[in-house]
Amino acid sequence: MQLRRAEAEVSERPANDGYRGRVQRLSKREGCSARFQYVPSMANQTWRVGDVKITKLVEVEFTFPSENAGKIVPDADPTSVLAIPWIGPFATPEGKLRGSVHFLLVQTRSARIIVDTGIGNDKTRDLPLFSMRTTPVLDVLQDAGWSRESVDHVICTHLHLDHVGWNTIRRDDKWVPTFPNAVYHFGGRDYEYFDASTSPARRAMFADSITPVVIANLASFYVPGTVAVPELTADPTPGHTPGQNSLIVQSRGERIVIGGDVMHHPCQVAHPEWSSDLDDDAKAAEVTRRAFLDKLADTETLLIGTHFAGPTAGRIMREGNAYRFEPDAGVEA
Ligand SMILES: [Zn+2]
Repeated sequence: MQLRRAEAEVSERPANDGYRGRVQRLSKREGCSARFQYVPSMANQTWRVGDVKITKLVEVEFTFPSENAGKIVPDADPTSVLAIPWIGPFATPEGKLRGSVHFLLVQTRSARIIVDTGIGNDKTRDLPLFSMRTTPVLDVLQDAGWSRESVDHVICTHLHLDHVGWNTIRRDDKWVPTFPNAVYHFGGRDYEYFDASTSPARRAMFADSITPVVIANLASFYVPGTVAVPELTADPTPGHTPGQNSLIVQSRGERIVIGGDVMHHPCQVAHPEWSSDLDDDAKAAEVTRRAFLDKLADTETLLIGTHFAGPTAGRIMREGNAYRFEPDAGVEA
């Protein structure tokens, strides 16, 4: 697979070994500083669940709080972050948090599914990190054999702008579905909620990333339960948005959970009481997060975080009154 270079958004190099190896190989080849190189790569990380393969495709990594990305987890002050003994791969030495926006490519025996479609290109947004991007995500997909036409399903865990962006691309000043042969699955509850919003930012997101899919007759609206393929189950995790769902992937007795934004960062595993300023209902989000962690704790089920940078997947272990996140390296692609 040919690697392509994207703009640098990381201020620090993530600690994940696979990621570091890839960055260093590119720097050597192109004679650039690894500090300012960032390569979204299909080979980034892959996990297997029975017959299903899940691959992370990074659109951007960043640190927060920052002017670029906002606060996201306001209670996570550097001192409290650095007091978490296992936080190393997920924070800078100064106690800033590392974040990521990525797709998850789910390959079953019979279908290709993209879970959450990131930020997208050419879209006007309030925060600089999200606005008028020019990331070569589709080239990376194509290079890996995932042409736009080959995608069977798109599933959005919820309808925030960093989960629906690549639903559409701009063609001749019109927004058209990026994946013309896919069924796009939107949670019915979130669709109703955001469709009724009068916020200009949400109206803009809806107009450029959701409505064109509906007009093209590619939208389907899911409720909790099986979605798109038998291996995927939508599990409600309300609070971040009213209709957010996590996705449980099951095959041959194995299981992985794609969290959605039930957490934005692993520090919330240690501090479930830390909600995000992006949560629609912070209290409901905390209740959901505690129940979610309780259900996963001390099981073999991997959690894949939708914004966890570097080692994106891991297991939840009980520790005192809270929990610990034990990263899992995944398998070779
Ligand atoms: Zn998000």
